[in-house]
Amino acid sequence: SDGIAAGDPDLFAAMRAELHRQQHEIELIASENIVSRAVLEAQGSVLTNKYAEGYPGRRYYGGCEHVDVVEQLAIDRAKTLFGCGFANVQPNSGSQANQAVLLALSKPGATILGMSLDAGGHLTHGAKPNLSGRWFNAVQYGLDLETGLIDYDQVEQLAQEMRPDIIIAGGSAYSRIIDFARFRAIADAVDAFLWVDMAHFAGLVAGGQHPSPFPHAHVATSTTHKTLRGPRGGLILTNDEDIAKKINSAIFPGLQGGPLMHVIAGKAVAFGEALQPGYRSYIASVVENAKVLAETVREGGLDIVSGGTDTHLMLVDLRPKMLTGKKTEIALSRAGITCNKNGVPNDPEKPTVTSGIRLGTPAATTRGFGAAEFREVGHMIVEVLDGMKAANSEDGNATVEAAVKARVQALTDRFPIYPNLG
Ligand code: PLP
Repeated sequence: SDGIAAGDPDLFAAMRAELHRQQHEIELIASENIVSRAVLEAQGSVLTNKYAEGYPGRRYYGGCEHVDVVEQLAIDRAKTLFGCGFANVQPNSGSQANQAVLLALSKPGATILGMSLDAGGHLTHGAKPNLSGRWFNAVQYGLDLETGLIDYDQVEQLAQEMRPDIIIAGGSAYSRIIDFARFRAIADAVDAFLWVDMAHFAGLVAGGQHPSPFPHAHVATSTTHKTLRGPRGGLILTNDEDIAKKINSAIFPGLQGGPLMHVIAGKAVAFGEALQPGYRSYIASVVENAKVLAETVREGGLDIVSGGTDTHLMLVDLRPKMLTGKKTEIALSRAGITCNKNGVPNDPEKPTVTSGIRLGTPAATTRGFGAAEFREVGHMIVEVLDGMKAANSEDGNATVEAAVKARVQALTDRFPIYPNLG
């Protein structure tokens, strides 16, 4: 059959249900967003049929003249967006972009220094179960527990002691602006590369709300699907020609075969969108909305790690209300609000339970929520949590959750997404 609806009803039903979920829930997962119809169109295109190992103008397959144009558009737009001399747009994911940096700039057994997972770093920055932690001598830095900020003195001390080849700055749950100049000074003192993983805040850099990793970083990686609001995938940037060559060889043939040309087309679309003035105002709202949300949940009696946020995300410490991340995530989900549990610094709970939730504003801001709506979202979160407390049950309060869900419905109806998709 031609289409999924007629030919594969089981799959179609699940896909429709997911569309419905996205339309009717408030998405607060900090790493997610809602892409444009144009990005969806690129990803659902015939470009998925094409093998194009190599790079534009230097392919190992025939028939690449059109996908060469596509990839070159993506490369040129990424370079313009980040004011950068080189971009590799082929990484299939953020993790593969990160693996390419390790492959390009070091060898198994080399020492790397990154932020630990429980401080808000990413798996690929040297966490034990990840390739970066298994094949490398991974040393991890953390936060200053008083301030919730990166402990730069510890970074410096570990760098001096361990002499890493690579120092990694960036994380998945860190809400404050990172001092790239300080990181570079620490790296230079021990002759290490500085690699900035801006997966989370790349959109803020592109939209003028966050300092650029350049000129400080030797290399920067990113995902393209978070604040950048593109298709799922990765991106690598540098201004160093020697590193650029090594990165290209690390991605292909080092790690990947044929690049996902339909996804690269989606990246070209998203980078093009991010170059429009509307994206700058979107990103300004993302950051403003995060401040409003943080302030509202604080007023409701919760703590925010580091006291607030400079970015699109925040880490909420639930301990003032004696709740766990695990139960809170589930209770909020029943009320139509989606987020993820997340460890807080020095978390007494296991990583599968945690004492925190991570909240982010990129997706709901895309659907049009402004400060007033985010204040309402903050109130609803506090009400669900206080409901759990009032019912004296970590398993939730059905009455409060139902009332909040009705308000979520009203809000999502006012700000529809994908109206013509079914
Ligand atoms: N780097 C950081 C800082 C991230 O937060 C993430 C995603 O969560 C990644 C890398 C990995 O991206 P992906 O999930 O596309 O592999």
